[in-house]
Amino acid sequence: MSAMEGWLVLDGYEDEPAAFGVPNYLGFHIRYICGVLESRGLPYTYMTIDQWRIHQKGRLDDPRERTALRRELSELDGTVILAGAVVPGKYVRGTPISRREMDRVLSILPGEQPVLCGGWAIRHWRYDGWTPLRSSLFCTVQDTDASLHHFLSTGQWENRKRTPEQWSEWALHGASSKAVTNHPDLESPKGSHGPLTYEIELYQGCVRFKRGCKFCIEPKKGLPLWRDEDDVLAEITTALDSGVRNVRIGGATDIYTYRAEGVEDLEYPVP
Ligand code: SF4
Repeated sequence: MSAMEGWLVLDGYEDEPAAFGVPNYLGFHIRYICGVLESRGLPYTYMTIDQWRIHQKGRLDDPRERTALRRELSELDGTVILAGAVVPGKYVRGTPISRREMDRVLSILPGEQPVLCGGWAIRHWRYDGWTPLRSSLFCTVQDTDASLHHFLSTGQWENRKRTPEQWSEWALHGASSKAVTNHPDLESPKGSHGPLTYEIELYQGCVRFKRGCKFCIEPKKGLPLWRDEDDVLAEITTALDSGVRNVRIGGATDIYTYRAEGVEDLEYPVP
């Protein structure tokens, strides 16, 4: 791997009922985070948790290598970690970051450096009593991309939600970001197309948000928020230009209810 620079964006993989992000899928929230950095022209390094395991994890156990790694990490401007797996599952190509792994990563990041953690797994761990001892750590319970954007604008950590305009902008920038172009599944070792499947977000939430299934996180997102068709098409075009060959229309709990009528009032909206 090439040397790390700028912000480290560590993809711990999201896996929600309507958002696949474990390889060979590439999730959209990690791309939006990269989209924030791209839109600001800031340098950053995209790394999957499996790349961390292969290239960095073993260095933690060797005192000399650990010191060298800490020195390399001290050159960074900050770190964003997405830990989003909330669906129990068996994975064939990658494994989401665990709480134990998260603690180990946090233990090697220089103490003075800003660290932002986001994703549904972080919320679950927090509810479970997870309290890492770091003064410069912020765990957001809203949108990780918007919280990062706020920090870069003000120097303050706050939970923030992205606006529809930011959603469009960061999705488009994310489509040509390093999360795509540097993803290990974009190309095969022989240089042909790899198995990467680009997960695209069509809308947020579930039309059953009032009477949703108790085990599911989607009703917590409230009234569904639709994306504009033109935004979705522009993002897919950019992704294809970046080398993507497989796209899955995800981020939609039920594709037939995209822009359905009567979502607020009817239990079964009209597709
Ligand atoms: S219907 Fe909605 S609330 Fe129920 S499992 Fe599906 S996405 Fe979740």
